[in-house]
Amino acid sequence: MRPYLGGMSVALCTPESKRKPVVGMSREALAAELASMGAPAFRARQLWHWLYAKGASDFAAMTTLSKGFRAELAERFVLARPTVAQDHRSEDGTRKWLFRFPDGQEVETVFIPEADRGTLCVSSQVGCTLTCRFCHTGTQRLVRNLAPAEVVGQIMAARDALDDWPRPEAERRITNIVMMGMGEPLYNFENVKAALAIAMDGEGVSISKRKITLSTAGVVPMMARCGAEIGVNLAVSLHAVTDALRDEVVPLNRKYPIADLLRACRAYPGVNNARRITFEYVMLKGVNDSPADARELARLLKGIPSKVNLIPFNPWPGAPYACSAPETIARFCEIVNASGYTATVRTPRGRDIMAACGQLKSASVKARKTVDESLGRVPAEA
Ligand code: SAH
Repeated sequence: MRPYLGGMSVALCTPESKRKPVVGMSREALAAELASMGAPAFRARQLWHWLYAKGASDFAAMTTLSKGFRAELAERFVLARPTVAQDHRSEDGTRKWLFRFPDGQEVETVFIPEADRGTLCVSSQVGCTLTCRFCHTGTQRLVRNLAPAEVVGQIMAARDALDDWPRPEAERRITNIVMMGMGEPLYNFENVKAALAIAMDGEGVSISKRKITLSTAGVVPMMARCGAEIGVNLAVSLHAVTDALRDEVVPLNRKYPIADLLRACRAYPGVNNARRITFEYVMLKGVNDSPADARELARLLKGIPSKVNLIPFNPWPGAPYACSAPETIARFCEIVNASGYTATVRTPRGRDIMAACGQLKSASVKARKTVDESLGRVPAEA
């Protein structure tokens, strides 16, 4: 295993493997750990504040704790973030990081600044098992689920890079989170739930559930739990209005067809006109973009408090689709709007750095392949 050196300036006497990662631990678990060290209950709260409100990256910086206690913490715990393997800046202000974990696995995280908000697009898995035909991440095999620490770690590392600690809420750069990076969050439910509980905690990162959106390709059996136990906004990657076509573009549809998916949407806990479900619909030229498709979409959504987000297809090398023409997208959008739904077209951001939807990880895999090939090695992820 590669050594993980982030935030490790003290306590080198305890072997790395014996120390527990403190980031990603629930408040309850942290309180129990500290209680077992004989610390009074308020210490857990102080530590939490240093970690998630102030963004301390080293126990030594936690000056409201005694020196002795800081040393004890450093003996027991690792305080680390993923490391930055790559950092890209788009001409439109979008930022993309490739973050690396101690085992060498990597994910991409994207920051999208807008006039009224800053959205961080967070990954839930290394790779993805869903093999959606239009998505580049889906062409890379799943390596593994991310642990809570690795999901929270993306937010913390992004805040480090954006100099976003500690700031009054009104001045923050990261105001919103979308679980729309690599992976299917509802296939990693427990870890995503644990990570988002930390992100939503009012005494820490403090991003409210109304500012967090989880996007799923339609893992129907987990949707009710997502609403009841995590309580964030839901986005559903619909992309097609018939099972025949959806089976092909989103193969998960063979398991959970459109009728089942929409039934789960109707029953989504907390959904109402003020909190609508977002239906994502990627615009694929000549495939799903006809006026008849738009009318059928509006018909399917009847009775579901929803908004529609049309995503111009972001191409990648070898992709089997092209993006619909702008006038086709505009016409589709008009038809859905005229049927009484709010439809918007998502502006592609960060295309120049391959940071747009469905393009994640591709560049790093390609780069590594090139390195491996030049060394005459067989790429592990080929
Ligand atoms: N697995 C989840 C999370 C991924 S979110 C889900 O499927 O919802 C990423 C969003 O970008 C999804 O709506 C996905 O369908 C969409 N997407 C993937 N590849 C794309 C591409 N090449 N162009 C545009 N949108 C894409």
